[in-house]
Amino acid sequence: MNEKAHPKQNILHEDIWNNLVKFHGHACPGLAIGVAACLEATRALELPVEWNEPSIKTPLSLDEELLCIAETDACSVDAFQFLLSCTLGKGNLFLRLRGKHAYTFMHRPTQKAVRLVANMDKEKAHFKDREALIAHLISGESSIFTVTHIPYNPPKKARIFRSYPCSSCQEMTAESMIRLHGEEKLCLDCYEDFSRIL
Ligand SMILES: [Zn+2]
Ligand SMILES: [Zn+2]
Repeated sequence: MNEKAHPKQNILHEDIWNNLVKFHGHACPGLAIGVAACLEATRALELPVEWNEPSIKTPLSLDEELLCIAETDACSVDAFQFLLSCTLGKGNLFLRLRGKHAYTFMHRPTQKAVRLVANMDKEKAHFKDREALIAHLISGESSIFTVTHIPYNPPKKARIFRSYPCSSCQEMTAESMIRLHGEEKLCLDCYEDFSRIL
């Protein structure tokens, strides 16, 4: 898909960036890539977010309106958790580890989806140091991503599983993580111990 013009007013407010850095622990290009992805995704999905205000007025996914599938577990995913409320705990952040700076965002209410793939090397070459690169990435003017609109095909909503006590360690374990061994229900760790081929 063709890239749109990048309006300047979409720059991330300094206060939001500083709070994100506190949440993450340090300022780094990886976190800034996450910010650039948030700016790009909300623009591509036409979600009304004012990133240039000192705080985020309306969280984007109080429930699970917005989903993110991240193909890396690097620093960038903390930006999605903090800025978009796409969190591991809530079940609207999925890690699909492929070692790529690639992120898919899906919006349930509008049924739109977009995949962003970062071309980090191309971007890095233009900046003399980390600080300049970070400033550029969070400016809303970065064109680090190849943006592709894709069909809306979300993972299922977060489910609640029954739990059973593991026959070996007795710890309560969700049924999705149980293995059967004869009549016994085993957690994955105990099952591994039982089934190891020496
Ligand atoms: Zn980091
Ligand atoms: Zn066990």
